[in-house]
Amino acid sequence: MAQKDPDATSASASQEGNRVFIKSFGCQMNVYDADRMSDLFAAEGYSSSQDEASADIVVLNTCHIREKAAEKVFSDLGRLRDLKTEKRKSGQDLKIVVAGCVAQAEGKEIIRRQPAVDVVIGPQNYHRLVDLLKTNDKKTDTEYPVENKFDHLPLPKTRRSVAAFVTIQEGCDKFCSFCVVPYTRGAEISRPVQSILDEILALREAGVSEVTLIGQNVNNYQGADRQGAVRSLAGLIEAIATLGGIKRIRYTTSHPRDMHDDLLEAHRDVPQLMPYIHLPVQSGSDRILSAMNRGHGRRDYMKLIEKIRRMRPDVAFSSDFIVGFPGETEQDFEDTLGLVREVNFASAFSFMYSPRPGTRAAEMPEQVEAESMRERLARLQRLLDDQRMVFNRSLIGSVTEILIEKEGRHAGQLIGKTPFLQAVHFNAAKDMIGRLVDVEILELTSNSLAGRIHDPQASATERSA
Ligand code: SAM
Ligand code: SF4
Repeated sequence: MAQKDPDATSASASQEGNRVFIKSFGCQMNVYDADRMSDLFAAEGYSSSQDEASADIVVLNTCHIREKAAEKVFSDLGRLRDLKTEKRKSGQDLKIVVAGCVAQAEGKEIIRRQPAVDVVIGPQNYHRLVDLLKTNDKKTDTEYPVENKFDHLPLPKTRRSVAAFVTIQEGCDKFCSFCVVPYTRGAEISRPVQSILDEILALREAGVSEVTLIGQNVNNYQGADRQGAVRSLAGLIEAIATLGGIKRIRYTTSHPRDMHDDLLEAHRDVPQLMPYIHLPVQSGSDRILSAMNRGHGRRDYMKLIEKIRRMRPDVAFSSDFIVGFPGETEQDFEDTLGLVREVNFASAFSFMYSPRPGTRAAEMPEQVEAESMRERLARLQRLLDDQRMVFNRSLIGSVTEILIEKEGRHAGQLIGKTPFLQAVHFNAAKDMIGRLVDVEILELTSNSLAGRIHDPQASATERSA
């Protein structure tokens, strides 16, 4: 699978005329959508291409969340137009598809700005992509469809990894003042329970042992079960845990307002549910949280963290932060640093505020200067990096359960993940991929941990010798 752009992930779904290359930007949901498009193409007899140059169809699965991500699409499209022109000279065709959130937000405007594009398709419509490609007309399909795309997507047949994403909820009704998601992904909808369970059973059949349930507001999941009753995220997690064979369950991204008691109880009671919660807070200043329309204050967030820790003391947190939201003063930023110190995050994502067209914050006065934003981001990232290193170091000397995911770079080396999503490498036989093993954590390297398989029997023999 080719991966030319460090910000992009690619999924590839060969035969002359129907080789597809999918390049995906942005969040986990786009990674998931790219895999499902790839499944869709494969079911229709298309094959995957390793790169754009050998492809007949290139799909850019785009992200609109920040300006930089959205603008990158147009520079990629310029390159693809040149490739299309080159291919025409040798009698070949190249179809260019723009999918994802930029497609939804910009629609026909994309073809106006770059006429080489053949199809523009929104995130709720991609089940219709193969049909649209069968005609030679330029097409824009971004109307929210009456049918549910999940009913039209084939079940996954092949394992891409030991761990898989499964979309359970899409869209958002929260309208944070900085965010485009409610405009690009639409109103919040939850997938029915059985549709999710069927997909997870197919993944299990293909050899997947960890699922991460994904949604923009995943903890507000309210899906109907077969009896028509509404299940919460906790109810869905319990149903997945009882399927058998799924060793680890995760979910992301949660909103602090929707962290309900039954979910906290599931963290206490469901062994497969990992003690690692991504809980974006965005800012530590009440003034800014209110201007962001987050619907929670700093104190609510801190109380929630305490409550979760009481229920499940070993839980680790990650978060998202925005620096330089309009009107953010040095004091507001200090409040964010203060909150970070109080919580102690295992990991976090942090971004400079990016004004998005159509959002309330983009119209707010007092936009913060780029230089101040850069400086604040660097300070915040230093603190978050320090906390991440301290957290990683705290595992040294422990015996930790690792789900083995793949081979490492060196011969005989395998890589797996801790419950807290840290990568650990150690030596073991390749046929152990997919298994849960106890690993003694020995040292911290820059981005991962190193360890060795913990074999209590061997240690006991060593001790008695
Ligand atoms: N639903 C999640 C939540 O409420 O926390 C967030 C989903 S959003 C796709 C992922 C992250 O992108 C957000 O948590 C936020 O930190 C960041 N983000 C969203 N809009 C942004 C903007 N206009 N500028 C900078 N970062 C932004
Ligand atoms: Fe965007 Fe806020 Fe919805 Fe998260 S909760 S997707 S940040 S509007």
